[in-house]
Amino acid sequence: MPKSTEPIRSFSGCYAWSPRILDQIADLPEELAEQIADNIENNYCPRCDRPFDPEPLQPAGSRVTDCRSIPICSRCGSDEATEVMQGLGSADPGCSHPADWPLNVGDIDARHQWLLENTRIATLDVSAGGMHLVDEDGVTTVQATPSTGGWAEYGYRGSVVDEEEL
Ligand SMILES: [Zn+2]
Repeated sequence: MPKSTEPIRSFSGCYAWSPRILDQIADLPEELAEQIADNIENNYCPRCDRPFDPEPLQPAGSRVTDCRSIPICSRCGSDEATEVMQGLGSADPGCSHPADWPLNVGDIDARHQWLLENTRIATLDVSAGGMHLVDEDGVTTVQATPSTGGWAEYGYRGSVVDEEEL
């Protein structure tokens, strides 16, 4: 796939990708930040070192920043959610810190297998009076995560370079 001239935009991110977003991460050595930026700009997921998903799939937005503007592959987006569920990671909100990237692909695949073995399909009803899960066991009220980060919480923005607060 030829390199795009458009900045990469993650599914969840407030901003188009910029290496400046990495400035928000505490305890990230400069050489690792450069490696992460280099991977992204060459269409490789910085979290697992595998190529990004082919279009039309859009990269996920890593949970390691509140703006969720660091693109990672969709498998890693799902894996970060699994880490948070399992309470495994050292970075807020419970996923692996970028100083540990790239992660071991076997570990990512093992967590995916855990997810497949420990989840089931249900319907989420958001129509009236909150959210409810409906499955073969009945109806359960769901408490939404109060802070999703990314565009869902802060809205879409342009380039992080133009923002003064970062
Ligand atoms: Zn990945």
